[in-house]
Amino acid sequence: MYWDAAVETLSAPQLEELQLQRLRAILRQAQQSPFYRQRLAEAGLNSDNLRSLGDLRRLPFTTKDDLRSRGLDMLTVPLTEMVRLHASSGTTGQATVIYYTRQDIATWADLVARSMYMTGVRPGDVFQNMMGYGLFTGGLGFHYGAERLGALTIPAGAGNSKRQVQLMRQFGTTCIHIIPSYALYLLSTFGEAGVDPLELPLRIAFVGAEPHSEDMRRRIEAAYGLKAYNSYGLSEMNGPGVAFECPEQNGMHVWEDAFLLEVIDPKSLKPVEPGVVGELVFTNLNRQGMPLLRYRTRDLASYDDTPCPCGRACKRLSRIQGRTDDMIILKGVNIFPLQIERVLMGMPEVHTNYLVELKRENFNDLMLVKVEVRESFFHEDLRYLTGLRKRVTEALKSELLVTPVVELVEPGTLPTTEGKAVRIVDYRNKG
Ligand code: ADP
Ligand code: ZN
Repeated sequence: MYWDAAVETLSAPQLEELQLQRLRAILRQAQQSPFYRQRLAEAGLNSDNLRSLGDLRRLPFTTKDDLRSRGLDMLTVPLTEMVRLHASSGTTGQATVIYYTRQDIATWADLVARSMYMTGVRPGDVFQNMMGYGLFTGGLGFHYGAERLGALTIPAGAGNSKRQVQLMRQFGTTCIHIIPSYALYLLSTFGEAGVDPLELPLRIAFVGAEPHSEDMRRRIEAAYGLKAYNSYGLSEMNGPGVAFECPEQNGMHVWEDAFLLEVIDPKSLKPVEPGVVGELVFTNLNRQGMPLLRYRTRDLASYDDTPCPCGRACKRLSRIQGRTDDMIILKGVNIFPLQIERVLMGMPEVHTNYLVELKRENFNDLMLVKVEVRESFFHEDLRYLTGLRKRVTEALKSELLVTPVVELVEPGTLPTTEGKAVRIVDYRNKG
């Protein structure tokens, strides 16, 4: 049931006590770095005068810009003691570099193993890791975790769709790690190969790395005949293994023995109540080489601190709604890409892919939504398609409060990537 019962079954007060101890230790550790030594001194905070977790709020946030400009000053051990580096994929700008000691790699692997075990992966499972290996943490992060757990690990890497299907058949893959948009795309390869994923022994999928809706999850589950678990992490906090879903599939438990969670209003920077969407802020509680304190992730989600039937007291995060910098402002209305996805994936006529283009015509902002329609519906008559287009437009309008221009396209015609999906292209300030 539990990978690390001693930690996973702590009550909320016990967990808090452990966090306080670890926070004191991490402050001592952080003082070894030029960056935090100065920050902590300026805030008048140290491991001796920290009385409660809340005292940490005296320290300013660490931002992505701090990491970019002062990253090397955040190391608490000499660079020669680091054994690996990763860089964030740079989805939103210049990549940031993260360094790991041998111990950090081991801690991280254990957190991923714990997360996988929680959903039911066991030694004897065949785990196919379809994430990019390399600077991106998704590949190696899960790889080490799966090995630590004792699953037979296939380092398939991203892309190479035909090969993925072949590997699954040849080795009897039971668990996969896959980007959700790619999971839907891969279905077309199964179709071409004449293989029905439902006939494979697949039982568990980890889906993460990009925002996706509940409908998207259910589609993946139905098409592959497995349970799909949302998994969250970011390079700045090791990589995957920060928050994962338990068998309840009702929110992602944050491993609070390793990460101290704050959720703040990104404007006022004040903490928000449970259930209110805010920006996630994490403090590393057991990291050796590069502990980050109060790191602003830019990721938006809400938290739930009520008890979970699985017995773990760790708070649960809602789905990640997007990043603060993903928000589209169209005609003064704030829109998150996930809202668009929720509407589209909820419609059975919609195939697996869509693309949103933002344009400016005659000083007027315009949202063009290209939507792939399932084969069987695409060949209906014109009157049907006109009606469908109208329904999609209306559904989007009632969710977004702006009226998009909807274009229905043939299945498989929109661009796909092997990595995180590109759903939004903003042409408004170009050319
Ligand atoms: P980046 O994409 O910023 O270059 P990373 O490769 O470290 O860097 O990816 C981490 C980011 O991916 C997170 O900050 C978050 O925005 C996104 N992400 C990871 N897991 C999930 C998930 N389960 N749901 C939604 N978004 C996720
Ligand atoms: Zn649970």
